[in-house]
Amino acid sequence: MFLSKHVDALQEWLAQQKEGHQTIGFAPTMGALHDGHLELVRMAKRAGDLAVVSIFVNPTQFNDTSDLEKYPRTPGRDLELLLSADCDAVFMPPVEEVYPPGADLSISLNFGEMENVMEGEFRPGHFSGMATVVNRLLDIVKPDRLYMGQKDFQQLSIVRDMIRQLKLPAELVMCPTVREADGLAMSSRNIRLTPAMRALAPILHQTLLETGEQLQRYPARELEANAMARLEAAGFRPEYFSMVDGRTLQPVDGFDSSDFIVACTAAWAGDVRLIDNVVLKGQAG
Ligand code: AMP
Repeated sequence: MFLSKHVDALQEWLAQQKEGHQTIGFAPTMGALHDGHLELVRMAKRAGDLAVVSIFVNPTQFNDTSDLEKYPRTPGRDLELLLSADCDAVFMPPVEEVYPPGADLSISLNFGEMENVMEGEFRPGHFSGMATVVNRLLDIVKPDRLYMGQKDFQQLSIVRDMIRQLKLPAELVMCPTVREADGLAMSSRNIRLTPAMRALAPILHQTLLETGEQLQRYPARELEANAMARLEAAGFRPEYFSMVDGRTLQPVDGFDSSDFIVACTAAWAGDVRLIDNVVLKGQAG
């Protein structure tokens, strides 16, 4: 497995692989890897791509500095896991490699209402930081395919729109959410859950599924309010529970409002913020 902290060394290695007509599959991550991340690697390998993973905790997408400081970092274990998943290359840059001093890499794209709802409402600035770093990493790696998880559904939608707006050559491939046996979506943040909050956490997914099942019979707003109350009663501090059109991310009124509906939620379990979503109608990806 090739490992580098430097853009130049990575690009030299990538150029050699591309000469051998290898296609490149790229999965950007923030480390503290789990099986959800490894599934991105496995998907790339199954498609015949060389799997390239970046591990970079991007400071510009954290609107909350204590969240950035507390973000779990497990580099040694990450490398072992990637090796075991047959990953081909890992890019672990320091901040200066991604954002060279003096270079202005920020992109000002307009994602319309898509970036103002849900995560956009509760994490101001998050998506512009995320889009900037994904664009920068795509410019460094120039992959044939970009692998991202459905777990961050809004992020995926915004990256899809960025690729369209900037006419980037990478094909976006969605990886379905990988879950623990009890339904909790795998997340780097899960290791920070207290035992009591870990026991509570699967209720998030259960609430998404059970609320979603009722959309054929009840109006979306009523179900969302009930789901928020249920999460709060269970011991979460929910931020939003929204049933949205899977393309525009705007709220739907009911099951017949769209052919692609996704229920999305974010809630605090103690001091850990969890997000999850399930597709209620149509197909993501
Ligand atoms: P992160 O390290 O949290 O920034 O995530 C890196 C990539 O892994 C993103 O494309 C995520 O959507 C994806 N990912 C994170 N958790 C999961 C999961 N449980 N299942 C599938 N993909 C995931």
